[in-house]
Amino acid sequence: MIFDISVPVAIVGGGAAGMVAALSLADAGISPLILERDPVPSGSTGLSSGMVPACGTKIQAAEGVDDSVNILSQDIIEKAHGEVDRAIVEVVCAASGPAIDWLVEAHAIELTLVGGFLYPGHSRLRMHAPPSRQGVDLIGGLTVAAERAGIDVMTEARVVDLFVKERGDIEGVGIERPDGSSETISCQALILACNGYGGNPELVKRYIPDMATANYFGHAGNQGEAILWGEDLGAATSYLGSYQGHGSVAHPHGILITWALMTEGGILVNASGQRFTNEHEGYSEQAHRVMMQPDGLAWDIYDQRLHELGKGFEDYVQAEKMGAVKMATSIEELSSMLGLPQDMLVQTLAECRQLRKEPSADPLGRDFSTKPSLEPPFYGIKVTGSLFHTQGGLTVNTEARVLRQDGSAFVNLFAAGGAAAGLSGSADWGYLSGNGLLTAVALGRIAGLTAAKLPEV
Ligand SMILES: Cc1cc2nc3c(=O)[nH]c(=O)nc-3n(C[C@H](O)[C@H](O)[C@H](O)COP(=O)(O)OP(=O)(O)OC[C@H]3O[C@@H](n4cnc5c(N)ncnc54)[C@H](O)[C@@H]3O)c2cc1C
Repeated sequence: MIFDISVPVAIVGGGAAGMVAALSLADAGISPLILERDPVPSGSTGLSSGMVPACGTKIQAAEGVDDSVNILSQDIIEKAHGEVDRAIVEVVCAASGPAIDWLVEAHAIELTLVGGFLYPGHSRLRMHAPPSRQGVDLIGGLTVAAERAGIDVMTEARVVDLFVKERGDIEGVGIERPDGSSETISCQALILACNGYGGNPELVKRYIPDMATANYFGHAGNQGEAILWGEDLGAATSYLGSYQGHGSVAHPHGILITWALMTEGGILVNASGQRFTNEHEGYSEQAHRVMMQPDGLAWDIYDQRLHELGKGFEDYVQAEKMGAVKMATSIEELSSMLGLPQDMLVQTLAECRQLRKEPSADPLGRDFSTKPSLEPPFYGIKVTGSLFHTQGGLTVNTEARVLRQDGSAFVNLFAAGGAAAGLSGSADWGYLSGNGLLTAVALGRIAGLTAAKLPEV
């Protein structure tokens, strides 16, 4: 076949995984081509809070945080109830710290350690995020770094075809432009960094029926093509029903409200003013629990102390500006503002105060003794559950090579980020906060470094 263009390595998708893979290749002296369907690279990375967990970084060391590959691996494995490929967990965790140091030092990506609180399941402070805690700044920094490194990013180039030789080696890809024109590009290696299938309602219905009616909060362009191409090629897939949800998205404003409000003392109630979940468990598994409540709605209830914590998050500030955050001097007043039954909300708060004295008495399993009780003035936000991104994907080995169903590896096909199977078990409960960008950055780095070593590249 004769191709229109020829490149050493093609990368499908210009989110964190694609950018990190490309920067790794460029540092090794190889000129990759990123193919991005949108006019400007953003992806779910651009919608995220930009928090990348990593262990053993220089940033952690400067803050006196003692973390290691073993500790991070254990946290991931525990959250996933052991339903995870331990070898992949280990290489991803081992790659995470050096990848963050490299992004900061070699590519001037501005990252700081998110302090003050731990997300459920994390035993160390290890979230590295842009100072704004917004993914738009992470992808912005990566895009500028890619420009500086002379990496070609072809935008408005949706990959629609994979060209494959008989034994499964990738020969190239076909792209389609918004005006309907098309081009073919040959490559010596292909990295799939086009995330999962959250933007494809058919696939969501097939693999995650529980969330078929939930709002998808991730990037609409993530249509699951990596999985569909992989299936055609006989590739193995893992944990397709796994996903990251979130139980606290302001409704109807559609703004993420940090779960730190809950882990640091807030409570979540339903339309009856009653708690229905252990708020100290991860935010991912809360999405379905909220969707199970009447009209799929719940209310974050918290106080001034937590309001101050929330103000450290740009999303929260936006939510307040848009009128999502309600404040009242008493719980009775708050319940009328939120349209919740006053007696029940008063009772729920009284029960929470009582539970502080009996740490193991909460039927929902939360230990209330670890955080201060809620004090006036009180705050409330109406929220719903959302699907953030899917965690199932192509099965890869420790070099980020895609595996066939018989366990053998494709020679020149790689997957990273949401295109690859995640580290979050088989459903919603296994997602340790940050698993998404962790595999985007770490597997992106591994895929780029491995592809750079292919003799043909
Ligand atoms: C609101 C929100 C908050 C989040 N916060 C965090 C967080 O703080 N920390 C964390 O770890 N995770 C977070 N996540 C998850 C995280 O955003 C993703 O796991 C991560 O961005 C995945 O990176 P990626 O590069 O694999 O995919 P993306 O960033 O989604 O990039 C994929 C790219 O591929 C492109 N593409 C898709 N198909 C094609 C095609 N056929 N041809 C060409 N291009 C294509 C897309 O347009 C997109 O630009 C959050 C998610 C959401 C929705």
